[in-house]
Amino acid sequence: MRRGVAVFGATGSIGRSTLAVLREHPDQFRLEVISAHANLERLNEILRVHQPRHVVITQSDQWKASQSLRAAFPAVVFHAGMEALNDLAAMPEVEIVVASIVGAAGLRSTLAAVRAGKQVLLANKEALVMAGTLVMAEAARTGAIILPVDSEHNAIFQCLPHAYRTGQTIPGLHQLILTCSGGPFRTLETQALQHVTPEMACQHPNWSMGAKISVDSATLMNKGLELIEACHLFAVAHTQIDVVVHPQSVVHSMVEFQDGSVLAQLGSADMRIPIAFSLGYPARLSIDAPRIQWQDLRTLEFESPRHEDFPAIELARASYAEGDDRPLVLNAANEIAVAAFLSGQIRFPEIMAITLECLNRLPRQPISVVDEMIVRDAEVRGLAKQLVEISVCS
Ligand code: NAD
Ligand code: MG
Repeated sequence: MRRGVAVFGATGSIGRSTLAVLREHPDQFRLEVISAHANLERLNEILRVHQPRHVVITQSDQWKASQSLRAAFPAVVFHAGMEALNDLAAMPEVEIVVASIVGAAGLRSTLAAVRAGKQVLLANKEALVMAGTLVMAEAARTGAIILPVDSEHNAIFQCLPHAYRTGQTIPGLHQLILTCSGGPFRTLETQALQHVTPEMACQHPNWSMGAKISVDSATLMNKGLELIEACHLFAVAHTQIDVVVHPQSVVHSMVEFQDGSVLAQLGSADMRIPIAFSLGYPARLSIDAPRIQWQDLRTLEFESPRHEDFPAIELARASYAEGDDRPLVLNAANEIAVAAFLSGQIRFPEIMAITLECLNRLPRQPISVVDEMIVRDAEVRGLAKQLVEISVCS
């Protein structure tokens, strides 16, 4: 029996890697649903190669523009708008949902897949940062299996006992060690960070990714978000998570047990590897990914992050420790600031300054239901946009 798969955010970087793995195993998987937002060109390419039964065009403005595309693929059922994802996630034909929409925009559809009790391949880390307690509680209630696609969390999951499920405590754990490439500016002087461009920030030394996560990797906010993600996925206190910079991105993360043993997962920096693990789970799929070339691998280095120049990890840690809406505020402010940096409105160090300012200006609030989260998220975005405007004028 082939397993039905839905890929939310199919036109993105994770979506592309997922479709590549699915294409290698047509005997095991059936593509039921994909979503595209604004990139109709890429959607067209996908439809020429894959045969999904349903396509959701999440950005309603694109519906009209997609008319000829829809006419060209009469066998496909097209849907307009984000809400369609929630119903399609719950279809009995869908067994696996790949949550790979970027940012807070992915929250509702990720939650819908969890509420429908699916096997959820989670790339959309922002959903856990905003609503980790709710998402994990819903998974426990419905029996949804959340498998981390993020390479670090996938590595940790692979180091845990076979019967381990995300959301459970880890027996005998001392600490989790998240590795971090250090990003493209790892060795750049403090002063030079003022002048880096979006193009420079998107040139990641080891990984090829979407623009938002590339900038997050340059500020190290990506590691901050991942720290929060790990707290939720593995039911650990933030004090049990250490971050170590490892410029080669070969060791994808580690688990240190109370007896001093450290387990690690290694592999090439290719997202098809954690995706294949999670699609095949609990079995292993064979895929055509690059292998580690041991003879070329002279050194594996480890060092501490430069927290003074890259305060994001500690800011995320403090937000998580404070609790309530702090991680949500951190995430929403960061999304707006990153978009402003990408469009050339603000400088690189202002991404963190704006995020910090939003945290300082908005008093801490408890939030527990999704509707409240969406309202708060919009409020933070409003403030962050004002701060961008002020910064542009100054
Ligand atoms: P991307 O920008 O390449 O793709 C994002 C996808 O989301 C696209 O399909 C886009 O159409 C869709 N999208 C964007 N805005 C949307 C909206 N408002 N509504 C609905 N859909 C929308 O990003 P990516 O690099 O593929 O990252 C996706 C997620 O996976 C992010 O949460 C990221 O943090 C996470 N992730 C990515 C990588 C990686 O290597 N790329 C690694 C780990 C985790
Ligand atoms: Mg990662």
